[in-house]
Amino acid sequence: MRSLQDSVGQLKGVGPKTVENLATLGIKTVGDLLTHYPSRYDDFAPTDLTVAKDKQKVTVKGTVVSEPLMSRYGYRRSRMSFRLVVGQAGVVNVVYFNQPYLKQQVEPNHDVTVLGTWDAPRQQILGTKLVAADSKAEAVGATYPANKHVRQATLRKLIRQAFDQYQNVIATLLPISLRQRYQLMERREMIKQMHFPTDTTMAEAAKRTAAFEEFFLFELRLQAIRRANRKEEGLQILYNNAELRDFIKTIPFELTAAQKRVVNEICRDLRAPYQMNRLLQGDVGSGKTIVAAIAVMAAVLAGYQVALMAPTEILAAQHAEKLAKVFSGTHVEVALLTGALTAKQHDQLAKAIKAGDVNLIVGTHALIQNGVDYANLGLVIIDEQHRFGVNQRQQLREKGEHPDVLAMTATPIPRTLAITAYGEMDVSVIDELPAGRQPIKTTWLKGNQGQSALDFLDQQLRAGAQAYVVSPLIEESENLDVKNATDLYARFKEHFGPTYQVGLLHGRMNNDEKAVVMKDFQAGKVQVMVATTVIEVGVDNPNATVMLIYDADRFGLAQLHQLRGRVGRGKRQSYCLLVADPKTDEGKARMETMVATTDGFEVAQKDLELRGAGDVLGDRQSGMPDFKVGDPVGDLKMLQIARADAGNLLATPGWDQKDENQPLVLYLQRHQLETHFD
Ligand code: ADP
Ligand code: MG
Repeated sequence: MRSLQDSVGQLKGVGPKTVENLATLGIKTVGDLLTHYPSRYDDFAPTDLTVAKDKQKVTVKGTVVSEPLMSRYGYRRSRMSFRLVVGQAGVVNVVYFNQPYLKQQVEPNHDVTVLGTWDAPRQQILGTKLVAADSKAEAVGATYPANKHVRQATLRKLIRQAFDQYQNVIATLLPISLRQRYQLMERREMIKQMHFPTDTTMAEAAKRTAAFEEFFLFELRLQAIRRANRKEEGLQILYNNAELRDFIKTIPFELTAAQKRVVNEICRDLRAPYQMNRLLQGDVGSGKTIVAAIAVMAAVLAGYQVALMAPTEILAAQHAEKLAKVFSGTHVEVALLTGALTAKQHDQLAKAIKAGDVNLIVGTHALIQNGVDYANLGLVIIDEQHRFGVNQRQQLREKGEHPDVLAMTATPIPRTLAITAYGEMDVSVIDELPAGRQPIKTTWLKGNQGQSALDFLDQQLRAGAQAYVVSPLIEESENLDVKNATDLYARFKEHFGPTYQVGLLHGRMNNDEKAVVMKDFQAGKVQVMVATTVIEVGVDNPNATVMLIYDADRFGLAQLHQLRGRVGRGKRQSYCLLVADPKTDEGKARMETMVATTDGFEVAQKDLELRGAGDVLGDRQSGMPDFKVGDPVGDLKMLQIARADAGNLLATPGWDQKDENQPLVLYLQRHQLETHFD
């Protein structure tokens, strides 16, 4: 019995070498091959030449009425021409340049299809492609994603063979109710029309089915994982409500409505008997830390330990310090576990963790190393979750018995998209900034206005402000980044002399050096912090109100937004100065976007528009999978519908017992374990 899971090696003419080559395109099974869809189609529907305009792209079918004439000249240059009778239009001339091999397909009295550009004055077609009538070419020609190991022609041949041999085992995965509701094709017909469409309308219809199928299967997998996790018993973190409320009262500000909402969402999960798996999304400065602190308190009140993992030592240290303040006077004992500890300190701390003497352990990935065992880990918090791989997140989770998991991110993916992408997690969004925040004023200055940037900085410093100065980013060279920052630091030191203190922060400094500078900056002893992008994530000094970024056009929108988010964290008016001479329209658009809005979601939306979904979502950061056919931005509506339908199906009792759904059940069993993140 054939199966779409058969290796491509089963196909005729496919030896080990070809198997290897196909693998470079991600094609291992016959099923992979059949879902290796064309990236574009050439329409072979004939054009009426009598009404064609000059320079129009045309496709004509006709009979060859002359011997092909071939002339060669120069290095590998050639010209081939022949005459063709085309219905109403009569005799036209056809010319091909530099495709000498086409000559053998041109024989008098034979029919050919010619694709090319119409040259009206000369009544001539400048040909690009030629298909002999007796070749088995389709009415609409497909072009596949190929590479240097696998040629178009090979793909065409193999896909044809695979379809002929396997079409009878192509089972339809989409439930019939959905196919009827959205007028989608059977899977076999869809695959046939994707590769060998009858015409472009059918190709489009097949693409719609393929996109829906892709979205639906993706959502089905994610939600099946989520349901499985749900079923898995988790901890019931039964804290005392009154005690938690008492703690919340000690917070020196009123939570925003959005913060209250997500605190409730988290607390409900903590108390419930299933494992929490929640993503907390909020723009920079929206106040995720205090929300996390409330969750920490709840877990500690119920007698559990909490681990909070941050991507960098600076961030971990900062979290530990902030949280120690928040929790002073409570029985939350905060410890910081990073690679910076001496072996002895590390051992001591590890002992305390194992004994349960500390109940909030903040750290870097040192938290998940062997030799770190927890007494009773109840809650795991992961800050800037996209900076960790699935494995690291899983390792931390496994340090306890089904601890609840709260992941946090400031990467602003448009909301709808995030909810759809992170289908295996529940998503909470803080979509509101604390009251009293003044929007950061952003100005774009040209390179030759550098002096006015300095003047502005002087003026702000005189008024008591603190500032960050970010040096240009040199791609792929940390060494040069460091040199840039060091040079800039020297220049600023000279510029300010003894009046203001200048600090330097870059990735090559050791942890002690970094900690000293950070501390001086927080304490107001250093007024100007010159830095590379190490400050991009999370660094929090509410007194810093100026962000000056040199060569800002070298940064992407997401990064600029993160950098800008380092200021505007207090009540004072903050400013962001972008110094840049962008060379491209896209670069200009980025600067203009930054000036126009401070809303992270708007920035993210603009980023999507400027770079395209593929680039933005293909980033490791986004966590979005690569879809082959569907476009999660352009077809967002469809993705959402597929999501809802997948959820409904899974929620239907006995859906997996129905005969018609068996192919889908099999599919799910096969793919459930694949994780689609990272
Ligand atoms: P982020 O979401 O970027 O991690 P933080 O948690 O660091 O944001 O919060 C940014 C700043 O806003 C902090 O200084 C924090 O104390 C303050 N903050 C948080 N929530 C509120 C609130 N509801 N009202 C006033 N200030 C708040
Ligand atoms: Mg934060």
